[in-house]
Amino acid sequence: MTMKYRAAEHSALLKDLTDRIHFLGSEGKIWLDEQRMLLMQVSAMASFRRELIEMIGEERAKGFFLRLGYQSGLKDAELARKLRPNGSDIDMFLIGPQLHSLKGMVNVRPVEMDIDIEAGIFYAEIEWVDSFEVENHQSEHLHSDQPICWTLLGYAISYSSFFIGRQIIYKEVSCRGCGDKMCRIIGKPAEEWEDADTFMRYFQSDSIIDELHTLQLQVENMSQRLQLRAGQFYGIGRSAIYRKTCELIDKVAPGKASVLLLGETGVGKEVIARSLHLRSERPGGPFIALNCAAITPDLIEAELFGVEKGAYTGAQQSRMGRFERAHGGTLFLDEIIELTPRAQASLLRVLQEGELERVGDSQTRSVDVRVIGATHDDLGQAVKEGRFRADLYYRLNVYPVRIPALRDRREDIPPLIEHFLEKLHLSYQKKTLGLSDRASEACLRYDWPGNIRELENLIERGVIITDSNQSISVEALFPLQSAEAHSIGLSSEGNLISQKLEPTHAWVDQLLDLGVSLDTMEEQLLQGAMERAEQNVSEAARLLGMTRPALAYRLKKLPE
Ligand SMILES: [Zn+2]
Repeated sequence: MTMKYRAAEHSALLKDLTDRIHFLGSEGKIWLDEQRMLLMQVSAMASFRRELIEMIGEERAKGFFLRLGYQSGLKDAELARKLRPNGSDIDMFLIGPQLHSLKGMVNVRPVEMDIDIEAGIFYAEIEWVDSFEVENHQSEHLHSDQPICWTLLGYAISYSSFFIGRQIIYKEVSCRGCGDKMCRIIGKPAEEWEDADTFMRYFQSDSIIDELHTLQLQVENMSQRLQLRAGQFYGIGRSAIYRKTCELIDKVAPGKASVLLLGETGVGKEVIARSLHLRSERPGGPFIALNCAAITPDLIEAELFGVEKGAYTGAQQSRMGRFERAHGGTLFLDEIIELTPRAQASLLRVLQEGELERVGDSQTRSVDVRVIGATHDDLGQAVKEGRFRADLYYRLNVYPVRIPALRDRREDIPPLIEHFLEKLHLSYQKKTLGLSDRASEACLRYDWPGNIRELENLIERGVIITDSNQSISVEALFPLQSAEAHSIGLSSEGNLISQKLEPTHAWVDQLLDLGVSLDTMEEQLLQGAMERAEQNVSEAARLLGMTRPALAYRLKKLPE
């Protein structure tokens, strides 16, 4: 049974459909037979459409709208079979296009139809007039090079496929949304389209989810790289003293000369070392950093030069040291003053000959590594006191660069704050309004004994405490109740200054009330100092006002 359908025969017998629509305002529901419907502004749909396209791109948005129409078409095909069980195939089939019109989505004008369910014949040529999707695109000023009546197309595809019982694919061969005179679609069984497989991928939501997943990974990857870059505050600052420092770094970067970075703790020596590496002739090589103060003296050689199996108890495997790992790149040695005399001798040899031996090994290995040393102490003084080898000192001191303390470059504080805010907003997924005027002022007047690292920590604290769309207050940055070793006070001129916190009766009383023992106090204080000093024993000792050996001794006594 084959029927030819001509446009002229298309009568608008919609009564059986309109009878099924019920507006139950009192219940807050609209029904089309068994389906709950929504009456929604086309303009709302339009801005949603624009946002979606902007967010995920046209191709992915196309997939979403195709599937949206697809779901709707499935439901309506079910209804069509139920409503006109005794009608001809064409009559039954026309419920789809008629519903499309009834819902206000488009005026459907069948041009040619050849449908025979039993014989599995399907051909449809349909004209769409006044597509809501074309209107969406026009009102939102969206431009496209391809037909854009996606929801309508998805509907036609699922409706026809479900209705006929085989996969039908429609293509919009011309569309007003991309500048054609009219919207026209042609529908045929999938086998009759060459690119059916490619096209059907739009309907596999899984593949889209996979794509979204990939996209998500890419975004994460990007934000990680962004964060990595954001960690680089090298170059931020306009003060003359810092510009001079950067000039020195830029000049020495391209060669292979060793560089010695000097400056207080927290001025950003590692960040500068990393920038130096990135500006060198081998930016693709490894950048390895080691804080010599963080390694116990008896392990420092193994850490730097590697170790052969069985060299000492515990050395169960041979492994590379930092030098070998940095081969072809840069090794950054912070707190170089902490190196043991033997490590100093080996380091000198690597610098002079480019050779090393692993601990417990007799084989000589060649390495090509640029060394950047750093210290917050006076190395020259250490040489005089016999704590540091003079020949190594001269070797390293070929190109010394002093990194200024933050209090000596106060004009750089605002751009640094901006930089950290940007970075921290990203990592905490929130956006504060930045520092309040009072907080900014306090930052400009403060002495920053911990330099840039302290500034970053304080801003991080402020961002954590402050809600989005709120300003970071001075209290959020400088909690006056802090029991930290450094606190903020007022000088006689009314400026905020860093000061050692003096024990007050109030907190001593509190501790006594809590029954805190002297041992616990000591333990907490030592651990706190070590944490703040990032496990740097010399630095922790300085914080506690004691010598390094004295602190090391006390740390050993601590319960594990
Ligand atoms: Zn169109």
